[in-house]
Amino acid sequence: MNNPIPYGRQNITEEDIEAVVSTLKSDYLTQGPKIDEFEEAFAAYVGSKYAVAVSNGTAALHLCALALKVQPGDKVITTPITFAASANCVRYCGGEVVFADIDPETYLLDIDKVRQLLENAPKGSYKGIIPVDFAGRAIDLEAFRKLADEFGLWIIEDACHAPGGYFHDSKKEKQFCGNGKFADLAIFSFHPVKHLASGEGGMVTTNDQELYEKLLQLRTHGIVKDEKRYKNTPSFANGLEKSQYSILDTQDYPQWYMEMQELGYNYRLTDFQAALGSSQLKRADDGLEKRRAIASRYQEAFENKNFIKGQSGVIEGHAYHLYVIEVEDRLGLYNCLREHKIFTQIHYIPCHLMPYYQDLGWREGDLPVAEQYYKNCISLPMFPTLRNEELDFVIDCVKNFYQR
Ligand SMILES: *Cc1c(COP(=O)(O)O)cnc(C)c1O
Repeated sequence: MNNPIPYGRQNITEEDIEAVVSTLKSDYLTQGPKIDEFEEAFAAYVGSKYAVAVSNGTAALHLCALALKVQPGDKVITTPITFAASANCVRYCGGEVVFADIDPETYLLDIDKVRQLLENAPKGSYKGIIPVDFAGRAIDLEAFRKLADEFGLWIIEDACHAPGGYFHDSKKEKQFCGNGKFADLAIFSFHPVKHLASGEGGMVTTNDQELYEKLLQLRTHGIVKDEKRYKNTPSFANGLEKSQYSILDTQDYPQWYMEMQELGYNYRLTDFQAALGSSQLKRADDGLEKRRAIASRYQEAFENKNFIKGQSGVIEGHAYHLYVIEVEDRLGLYNCLREHKIFTQIHYIPCHLMPYYQDLGWREGDLPVAEQYYKNCISLPMFPTLRNEELDFVIDCVKNFYQR
């Protein structure tokens, strides 16, 4: 009998362990040099100017929503076929989530549905769009940018599934997920099922310096430690007598001085997690290659099979966090694979049908394409250390189930 085969699995090498251990022996457990190293290497990897490491992908989303000043009542559009955090970040700020349906071919947020929503609402009611590079397929952000500009919206790209993914823009140039060219902000997660693991961890990338500085501040309690940006002016600058000086200053700002200027959070990543992330990043391209090879095998094995109603396929630039197939009798297949210790997963139960969002008024029938997709979808094992024998076993089990 085979070992259990999950749908995704992290890969920790001796080199990773060494990187963590050496950080544990260093002077910094958090807020040290490993954070800067990881941020620089990650920004270089995705092609963005700036990167901000945070405690997880959900914190990354929350910081983005805060930096873009989502207010109670602001409407933001996202896809229902995503992890709930993509939508929840809007709710953290009191905004309203509006789900738009997906494209049945790409499984990504359907730009035509988004346009319909925008055109049918009074101008200014929507503030932003959160497209997701679902399963690792890069969404055409150039098209979304055009649409967003038409309506004055911002874009947060949820690129958790797609480090290393890209699409070709209208000039046939590769645009990597999270490169900051079209989205205002992009976010990644380093949860163990994702491409890179740091235990928990996340990253925001951007090309916008102002947003970058805002994110740094919000990541650490809203605290500023930069004389040029202080809000309390020293008393002498206001022409006061020494006896009238505020207790906050003497002659000048003392060394210990800092200001909490807005309500921030502690969303920092630790240095040993950053060391693990950096170490994993060195193997990112190898992992991507392996994922793409696995996708090719699935595609070939299931091409022209009548039990397959749709599949992720072989798409250039796809980062293959997931390999999704759509099948008949999905529950039967899921249970049969479980009996063979192949633990597949369903991505995702449509977000709008979660009780929390149903309480906000969403109902079955609201997003028919996403709901139809959900009935048939199943994510097959997809991770770089999946061995060829295991892959063959998965493929055989799927085929045998339908050929009984
Ligand atoms: C994993 C994931 C998140 C959240 O990341 P965490 O690090 O688990 O908080 C957000 N969006 C998507 C699409 C994800 O897959």
